[in-house]
Parts: sequence; C-alpha cells; structure tokens
Amino acid sequence: MRRFSKSSKLDNVLYDVRGPVVDEAMRMEADGTNVLKLNIGNPAPFGFRTPDEVVYDMRQQLTDCEGYSPAKGLFSARKAIMQYAQLKGLPNVSIEDIYTGNGVSELINLSMSALLDTGDEVLVPSPDYPLWTACVNLAGGTAVHYVCDEQSEWYPDMDDIRAKITDRTKAIVIINPNNPTGALYPREVLQQIVDIAREHQLIIFSDEIYDRLVMDGLEHISIASMAPDLFCVTFSGLSKSHMIAGYRIGWMVLSGNKRVATDYIEGLNMLSNMRLCSNVPAQSIVQTALGGHQSVNDYIVPGGRIYEQREYIYEALNSIPGITAVKPKAAFYIFPKIDVKKFNISNDEQFALDLLRDEKLLIVQGSGFNWRQPDHFRIVYLPRVEVLKDATNRLTDFLSYYRQ
Ligand code: PLP
Repeated sequence: MRRFSKSSKLDNVLYDVRGPVVDEAMRMEADGTNVLKLNIGNPAPFGFRTPDEVVYDMRQQLTDCEGYSPAKGLFSARKAIMQYAQLKGLPNVSIEDIYTGNGVSELINLSMSALLDTGDEVLVPSPDYPLWTACVNLAGGTAVHYVCDEQSEWYPDMDDIRAKITDRTKAIVIINPNNPTGALYPREVLQQIVDIAREHQLIIFSDEIYDRLVMDGLEHISIASMAPDLFCVTFSGLSKSHMIAGYRIGWMVLSGNKRVATDYIEGLNMLSNMRLCSNVPAQSIVQTALGGHQSVNDYIVPGGRIYEQREYIYEALNSIPGITAVKPKAAFYIFPKIDVKKFNISNDEQFALDLLRDEKLLIVQGSGFNWRQPDHFRIVYLPRVEVLKDATNRLTDFLSYYRQ
C-alpha cells in the first residue's frame, strides 16, 4: 500500500499553542471532563463582544460582499487602514502599500514565503508568537532566535541580536506589544533595534496586533515611524483590539524606503493575487471598526476587565511559592517563571500535561513559544477574576504536591 507522509518542509515547523497538550484537553472534554482553558487568546468566548455597530454594519453589507474584492482589499478598508497607519506616523504609505488578509496569520505566512530562499536567516524573538518561527522555516528560511530578557522587562537583548547577525540575515521580527510576555517596548529600545537594522540593512517586520491593548497610560509606538529610511512591514488587525478574531481580518502595511524592496514587493503582490482576496464581509466592516468609539478603551483602564484581570493574575501568581512573573503592560498574556529545581521539572510539556490531567487546567508550556528552558508557561488572562481565582487555586494545589 502506498503511504502518504507529510512534506519534509514541515520538519522544522512547530505550533504547540494548538499542539499535543491541547489534543489531550480535547480528549478529556470529549470524555465529559470540564477543562479550564487558559491557552488561547480568543476574546469572544470570555464575554468580550464585538462592538454592536460592527455587527450592524456587517449585516447591512453582507449582500454586497458576494464577489471577490481586489486582491489587496476593498478601497474603503484600505483607506481606513492607511489613515490609521498615517496617524501612527508610518512614513511614505499609500493605499497600494496596504494588504488585507484572513487575519495577520495569512500575511505572516505570505510575507515570509515571498522573501526567503533556503538558508536565509530571519531574527525572531525568543519567546515568540510561534507562527513567526513556523512561517520562516516553512518558507525555507532559518529562524534565528534572539533572547528577550526577563530581568529587563522582557525587552530584546541587543547584544544577543548583534551576536546572531550573519551575512545571511535578511530581516528582524519584533512583536510589540508582545505575546507571550505582555511587554511593551519604549522608544529607546525601538531606537536600538532601528540602529541595528540600519547598520546591517535588515527589513523590520513588526507584529503590532495588540497595539490598542496598552495599559498604565503608556503609549504604543510603531517602530516603522522611527525608520523612514528603512523598509518596514507592520502587521495589525481586528482580532484582538476589536474582539472579532472569528471574522478573520488583519492587514500589513509597507512603509519607509520601498525602493530597496521593489522585487520583494513584486513577490508579495504575486502571492496576494494568487490567494484572490481575503474574506470580503470582514473587510467591509474595517472602516466602521477603526473609526468611532473604541470599546477596547474601556477594558484597559482601572475598573476595566482586562486591567483588573491583569492586576489579579499578576498578584496571585507572584504569591504562589516557586512562581514569579513580570507585570505585563499590554495584550492579555502573562509568562510566569517556575522554579524548575524546586519542582524537579526538565520537560515543560510534561509539566503542562500533568497539570492538565490532575487539575483540569490548560496552559501552554514555554517551549511552545520557542523558549529554550523548561521554566516558563503562558497564561491567557481573558477570563473573569472569579475564573482566574479558580485557576490560580488549582495551580497552587498542584504545586503543593507536585514532585516534592
Ligand atoms: N500575531 C500575534 C502576536 C498573535 O498573538 C496572534 C494571535 O494570537 C496573531 C498574530 C494572529 O492574529 P490573527 O487573528 O489576525 O490571524
């Protein structure tokens, strides 16, 4: 019998945010066990609803969205995104520089596929949102990880970035605000990255999907706004800030010095044309979503859900013996450290599985984010405080007996 195996292109591809531990959780659920899931950054199931005006707009427009749109997207959507990009100070952006996608996910894949040849290197943070590493490797490139430093608010370690640059390095990826750490990079940090990119003529890919989910009165700065002489690609979308991950709409914006990338841009256009267009009903509500009242603003201030849930989870985790965590400033994730000596942990996937089986609590182990030591895990703090309390109680109970 002929057998079919997966492509060897997938040999270096990992996407554990939905990997084996999640498979086990689904098996348990299928057997009737309730699992408390803190693993996926999907706002809607936790009661974060799409703004009413967006749903209204979608209903109105649906019958006009039966055909394909232009490959990069509807004029109204791209115009609204362009204005948003200009407000954030992105230089040299015209409507032709905006590409809509079925979520940022599709565009991460597309942008890496159009760029990389075998052996080309891209600097990707560790920890990262693992789709970046996966797409670099799937495209035939090599993801080279630079570390983000927990001791310095999880900012990128500039010495490590410099040490990892070779003559095959084409680009650097930053995720700001960050998943999984919740870090937000200040201007000085961004400036150092721009300086390195300038010195080594790198493209900057900046994933800013959490750009509106910033707390403590801090400001999100788009790195592209600081690099008019470099070629930058900035990614964002409506999945997180507008709580509509299910509609599947994201975008990327080319900015700065496009002359150095004319051939690459041809490749982007080719791949964008080949997938015809992104989901048109979702494009049709971008203008409404980006303008007007931003419901997310109510969540990120004191008294707002995301803010209060962050306060709770940060305090609660740090009061568990053997756990420490840096306070997240943005997004809705926290990436705590666990004392591996105390708990005798050498394999963090096993730790996540044990926690799942014993306490019916699902988290994602740090290695799922290309973090090399088995000493971290990620919690999504989208659930209400009562639910987070239940979760931290289960974690406390588990650690009171685990391997001691
Ligand atoms: N980038 C980051 C940093 C993310 O955390 C996510 C989703 O969790 C995505 C991109 C994917 O977003 P989208 O829903 O737009 O595909």
